[in-house]
Amino acid sequence: MSFDDLSRDQIQALFDEQTAAYRALQERGLKLDLTRGKPSPEQLDLSNELLSLPGADFKDASGTDTRNYGGLTGLLELREIFAPIMRVPTSQVVAGDNASLAMMHDNLVFALFHGVPDSEQPWGVEESVKFVCPAPGYDRHFALLEEYGIEMVTVPMNADGPDVDAVREAVKDPAVKGMWLVPTYSNPTGAVISEAVAAELAALETAAPDFRIFWDNAYAVHHLTDQQTKTPDILGLCVASGHPNRPVIFASTSKITFAGAGVSFLGSSPDNIAWYLSHLGKRTIGPDKVNQLRHARYLGSTEGVHALMERHRAILAPKFETVVTILRDRLAEYGIADWTEPAGGYFVSLDVLDGTASRVVELTREAGVAMTPAGAAFPYGEDPRDRNIRIAPSFPSPDDLATAIDVLATSVLIAAAEQYLA
Ligand code: PMP
Repeated sequence: MSFDDLSRDQIQALFDEQTAAYRALQERGLKLDLTRGKPSPEQLDLSNELLSLPGADFKDASGTDTRNYGGLTGLLELREIFAPIMRVPTSQVVAGDNASLAMMHDNLVFALFHGVPDSEQPWGVEESVKFVCPAPGYDRHFALLEEYGIEMVTVPMNADGPDVDAVREAVKDPAVKGMWLVPTYSNPTGAVISEAVAAELAALETAAPDFRIFWDNAYAVHHLTDQQTKTPDILGLCVASGHPNRPVIFASTSKITFAGAGVSFLGSSPDNIAWYLSHLGKRTIGPDKVNQLRHARYLGSTEGVHALMERHRAILAPKFETVVTILRDRLAEYGIADWTEPAGGYFVSLDVLDGTASRVVELTREAGVAMTPAGAAFPYGEDPRDRNIRIAPSFPSPDDLATAIDVLATSVLIAAAEQYLA
């Protein structure tokens, strides 16, 4: 029975019933948080062995003392483990410190001050610089652009990647220097880019000769099902299309080992890597190689990474199941919401009735459940339809998560009923 088939009296009755349920939830004095995709303590515990590594043997495979300065490119044995995941030759992978977001930041800032290998001048002296932003997308990507005055051009994010026609149109503007993309299990919709879309993006004719795809593969190995979805080989596709310098590939162990004490990775063409290292070398004498060594020892191999991710999956998949089951049970019959059922990654993306997302988030907050602000997944925080809400199920305990999603579903129903009755 969808809302459209209900009479005004029936909607009023539903509103009254849900409001009573909401009050009862409010009286429980909840304090729950679904805002950020943080691993749970149980997930972090999987990597506690790191805390006692590397121990007294602190030399890497080549005999270098990891405690000392140097080694800008990062430890070879760890780059070898992640190169196949990034689909980049090891010689074109840099291992860094604990945040790939910092690498993305540096790439933008270096480009603004110096230009990239194919630039005629620094991006920062151009009249305007723009980035294509598939939305819904990752709020921190958008925040970085806003921080540096880079204009955002929104394109729709579909289930198989960004809307290529919209991207094709946008890149006719020479001010468009790049685009963001989370190719696998995207934040927040869980979309996985298809080979066909990746190939089209690799081949696109762009007005800017120095156009870059910031390919943020934060969830490359973060499967929630048996299907081990493989990310397209964007470097190979770009090389084949004659745009070898186009992709800049990011990854990290933030959701593999410790979110705050992991290792970040950057992969790209030999020219881009040389460019990055030349500027990075002014910013730091070298990364935390002790952390890199303990990661190499703990993970052991690319297979070791996949085995660890299976253990994460055992903890995470039931949580995603909880979210989807409650949303289905509570909301499906009313036709007022849609949600993703991702095969990997860290988020469920919920679309509620147009114009009610902000109200839903307000209601959940007043019942003690913190959600990411409505609109956060859009450039400038503006969801043109005020309908999208990002759910991050990883951190709360299973019981807390179920309660939080119950509050959310109740709030979705109340906000929808309010709109119908208004
Ligand atoms: N990229 C995406 C798409 C993310 O969702 C996140 C974490 N929420 C990050 C990057 C952050 O990665 P890191 O911890 O390596 O900075």
